[in-house]
Amino acid sequence: MPSSNRLFVRLAEGLSALERALMPPACLLCGVENAARDGETLVCPLCRSRWRTVAHPVCVRCGETRTPGEPACRICNWWPQSLGRVRSAVWLSGGARQAVHLLKFEGWWRIAEPMARSMQSLEPLTDQLLLVPIPLGRRRRRARGYNQSAALARSLARMGRFTLAEDRLSRIRETGAQSALAPEARMVNVRGAFEARGVRDRRVVVVDDVFTTGATLVAAAEALTSAGARGVDAVTFARAQGPLGQAVMN
Ligand SMILES: [Zn+2]
Ligand SMILES: [Zn+2]
Repeated sequence: MPSSNRLFVRLAEGLSALERALMPPACLLCGVENAARDGETLVCPLCRSRWRTVAHPVCVRCGETRTPGEPACRICNWWPQSLGRVRSAVWLSGGARQAVHLLKFEGWWRIAEPMARSMQSLEPLTDQLLLVPIPLGRRRRRARGYNQSAALARSLARMGRFTLAEDRLSRIRETGAQSALAPEARMVNVRGAFEARGVRDRRVVVVDDVFTTGATLVAAAEALTSAGARGVDAVTFARAQGPLGQAVMN
């Protein structure tokens, strides 16, 4: 073996040993030791099974659980045509909330893998589409080191036959945190915040971590539609519950 190859092998071995050393010995959510070692994932099967799936029937448009015969949906009745269906995998509670927190604020970008796995059978995810993550503003992206929505989109792209299109949507304006704002104020806050390109005649599925009122997704869909997208749906890992999602993190 040429010495450069040997060096490469040694380097690769060194890196995987380092990776094992850095792997937490326990599930990131329940702390049970070795529980998460059933593969590459950081969350044990029991914790994953406790994430509360958003139960059907759901509103055909926004994906909110609803009782048949209920009057018009309060969540999506104001959405413009540009945003089609939105579907979320689980409710933002318990371990799922913890997972979002670890992904967003604790630097555990690899937890995106088990989170994305719970999203992979959501309706909008069919063939021939572009997966476009909601971008962060430059300042926040620099502070966090990565974009959590892009981490989810990247994991989803690995699982399906979707094309990851991370660079098609950008933020042209930094927006303040959405968390403290009422629904109408959220829309004003993000309106015109995005710019899209390279999506003409493509079907796009926007990826985000948490769905709250849809304001961010609507703003993204408006930009993508203006740039010629043929249809824009969205998927999120979690969905905030309650009167227009009081329990939100941004
Ligand atoms: Zn666990
Ligand atoms: Zn709805």
